[in-house]
Amino acid sequence: MSPVLIARELTRHYRLSRGLFRPAATVQALNGLSFELTAGQTLAVVGESGCGKSTLARALTLIEEPTAGSLQIAGQDVAGTNNYRQLRRDVQMVFQNPYASLNPRRRIGDQLAEPLAINTDLSAAERRTRVLAMLERVGLRAEHYARYPHMFSGGQRQRIAIARAMILRPKLLVADEPTSALDVSVQAQVLNLFLELQQQFGTAYVFISHNLAVVRHVADRLLVMYLGRPMELGPAERIYRKPLHPYTQALLAATPSLHPEPGRQRVRLAGEPPNPLEPPTGCVFHPRCPYATERCRGEVPALREVDGREVACHYAERFV
Ligand code: SF4
Repeated sequence: MSPVLIARELTRHYRLSRGLFRPAATVQALNGLSFELTAGQTLAVVGESGCGKSTLARALTLIEEPTAGSLQIAGQDVAGTNNYRQLRRDVQMVFQNPYASLNPRRRIGDQLAEPLAINTDLSAAERRTRVLAMLERVGLRAEHYARYPHMFSGGQRQRIAIARAMILRPKLLVADEPTSALDVSVQAQVLNLFLELQQQFGTAYVFISHNLAVVRHVADRLLVMYLGRPMELGPAERIYRKPLHPYTQALLAATPSLHPEPGRQRVRLAGEPPNPLEPPTGCVFHPRCPYATERCRGEVPALREVDGREVACHYAERFV
């Protein structure tokens, strides 16, 4: 099956002015990220705040252009295309806060019908039929069509936001922390809804989260990022069972689990991520890594294949 999404050396840098007498600085928000995703697959992207997850989401949803590298979505090269309209239809996004992404003054049914009015030739009656079917598909009822966002619970609003994103049957859905504003009791229901819709429509998901426990439920592949760089990338279950990068080990050790994996490395994550304006030399994780050596301080570890995934650590074999 050909990939829906191909990212090659995707890079996004920001120039920051620091006043009259100091030279401008560069923040490397995303640095040389490469991955592929096929239809019906979910890539979970995890890391602490400032790791580049949101920059990646903005690049994938065409909100910001990459500074370098290439991005191909549904067979089209994003940089070279003049067909942005089709691409925007193929790529949809679900945000953390569903209330902020819905218009409080418009009826839910009208908000769901809007993308159909803009992007399809369906008649008003056909749009209404499609919206009613989608409301039912996400667990709401026909009478909800005429209601306003404030009349729903947080979980229902996120269902509406998901319905709006899926109503055009996108090829790629980017979900940015879509359950972190919800009660724990409804998180699992919303995650299950994502999975059901994926099975029905074959959409590829990029699921962004700081919480490894949440994404374990949905992820086929896992990408662990730190300071805009990929640290570990590969099949999710393999990485959960035996993380090879010390940063992944630390994130997993900090994640509460009812079923801790036997024999897992216990790395404690000390300190804060470094200032992105002055990234550490060598391995960017070295100031917080308990295994750091002189080599780590001077030499950037390449992302390379070890035990069925890619890892950016000089000593990954030690943990196999
Ligand atoms: Fe730690 Fe060195 Fe591996 Fe970086 S390269 S994660 S500092 S052991």
